[in-house]
Amino acid sequence: MATHHKDEPKKEIPEIITDPSTGKKYQRGKFLGKGGFARCYELTDLKTKDIFAGKIVAKSLLVKSTQKEKMSQEISIHRSLKDKHVVGFHGFFEDSDNVYIVLELCRRRSLMELHKRRKALTEPETRYFLKQILSGVKHLHDRKVIHRDLKLGNLFINDEMEVKIGDFGLATRVGYEGERKRTLCGTPNYIAPEILCKKGHSYEVDIWSIGCILYTLLVGKPPFETQTLKDTYMRIKKNEYHIPGRIGPLARSLIQKLLQGDPTRRPNVDMIIADDFMTMGYMPSRLPTSCLTMAPRFDSRCSSVATRKPLLEINNKDGSPVKVINKDGSKKEGLATKVPSTSGTTARQQQQQQDSQQAGAQPPKSDEPSDCYLKDLYTQISSVVLSKPDEKENINEEESEDPAAVPMIWVSKWVDYSDKYGLGYQLCDDSIGVLFNDFTKLLLLADGENIHYIERNNAEHYHQLKNYPAPLNKKVTLLRYFRNYMNEHLLKAAASMCPREGDELARIPSLRTYFRTRSAIILHLTNGTLQINFFEDHTKIILCPLMGAVTYIDEKRNFKTYRLASLEKYGCRTDLANRLRYARNMIQKLMVTKSSTLKSSTGSSTSQPAQPTTA
Ligand code: ADP
Repeated sequence: MATHHKDEPKKEIPEIITDPSTGKKYQRGKFLGKGGFARCYELTDLKTKDIFAGKIVAKSLLVKSTQKEKMSQEISIHRSLKDKHVVGFHGFFEDSDNVYIVLELCRRRSLMELHKRRKALTEPETRYFLKQILSGVKHLHDRKVIHRDLKLGNLFINDEMEVKIGDFGLATRVGYEGERKRTLCGTPNYIAPEILCKKGHSYEVDIWSIGCILYTLLVGKPPFETQTLKDTYMRIKKNEYHIPGRIGPLARSLIQKLLQGDPTRRPNVDMIIADDFMTMGYMPSRLPTSCLTMAPRFDSRCSSVATRKPLLEINNKDGSPVKVINKDGSKKEGLATKVPSTSGTTARQQQQQQDSQQAGAQPPKSDEPSDCYLKDLYTQISSVVLSKPDEKENINEEESEDPAAVPMIWVSKWVDYSDKYGLGYQLCDDSIGVLFNDFTKLLLLADGENIHYIERNNAEHYHQLKNYPAPLNKKVTLLRYFRNYMNEHLLKAAASMCPREGDELARIPSLRTYFRTRSAIILHLTNGTLQINFFEDHTKIILCPLMGAVTYIDEKRNFKTYRLASLEKYGCRTDLANRLRYARNMIQKLMVTKSSTLKSSTGSSTSQPAQPTTA
């Protein structure tokens, strides 16, 4: 759905929504996002307290008969589906103003937001997601449904990090064996060549889209992307795409099978499930939610990957555990050089080598800039600030709200003890970190067991609170001290999340640098997030360059996330604009100061770790 109807007067959606046919009542909760026609909210069934996602479409927007038909087609197809990997359909109804669709809630947004934050994923992660996508698409195809718009934004993720296929707005049912569809009302994102050439299409268009999804997840950008849609369509018709050399042979081969111009040559879902790429590499059974922002660790020391036995035997022939992981991805002390050359090895062995190389060289070779996106953020903020968003005529802050861009990680508590040791902090996921004065870092994950020690050169070492090398003794003691202090004395900035299984694979961002002024503390995390806590009124902003978003926690502790580009267009109130201006100055300060000299330049720490809290 694409067209916006901004001129329509917006009717308020009621707080309590009643299904007239069943009498069921729902409480309208958190805003989840808006699409072309729909606004989505959390809906709580007042009787059972079950929480759903409610897709709400104003009837005033459904004027053309084609729009109405599309809506009823979407409902009719979606309600006939029931699968672990398809967004659950729990009902629909209407009142005089709106149509309501009650759906399974997917709190972790979609693969689109994951992609924006992470760019290229590791092969095991990609395999994990692809397996679930294929399982869902198999369900559709078995029921003669073609989705026709499989794309990252329609692959939702729940709290368990499971994928659910959603949005059946362009879906269709195959009426008889061999039917070729001739029409498609709308523009699919990963559009297949046979649709562009109007040759008639069927299930194979979904396989094409899966090829584009696989490519995008592994490479970090879509296969046919150009500056204009016209050029993109040209490249699709000519089947012009390039797979970078770093992509493994089995992944490469599968992408090539899926992205064949001739639809009859593409494999069906069962064939993809049985493909070497799916069966030969490491398939994680779970992923931690931290994967939404950081590559997980698939290293040998992790108990939950014990199923990778053969892989460990190949790579640790000399019995040496792999502990040191270099940020630059160098494998000097690593695995690759110890493994016999690929000649004479089987495809399975090659794939396992590939997985373990990725695992051993974490984070995987990334395009992450060394300034952790500070320059990008400066460009984005400057653009908003220079547009004078608070001097606009019809300021409409609400229009810029985008819950899909909410930050995954922010600092919920901090203690400055840098005159002696360093800065201790807690993240919203309940993990703890210390940035020591010698620029090393120690992190205690939310499970309270796993600790990650990060050297000044960013080399990461994984240990446990129960078991770590003796030289870390003093730092671990300080970490415990900071943890106890924060637990006892400080209030949290926001509610925490619960740890879950799979979290032992987690890697979390750490504090890259920070400094204090008279009015605020500025915290910069390694995933690019910049947080500013203002002392006087306890307001906070959290800036994310990857999502291009700002979260503003105001004096009343309202927590709202806005797209920076939209604020530029629709404007914002002075309080937020002032904070953005302040942020721009602070980013400038961060950019001109070498991060290693920042702390000492503030000189405002006290001798007691009893600093203002973020409460
Ligand atoms: P469109 O109108 O483009 O089809 P949707 O109405 O499907 O878009 O969704 C609008 C937004 O609501 C999405 O971008 C997503 O952020 C959110 N959303 C949709 N479905 C769900 C769901 N099942 N769980 C959580 N959020 C959802």
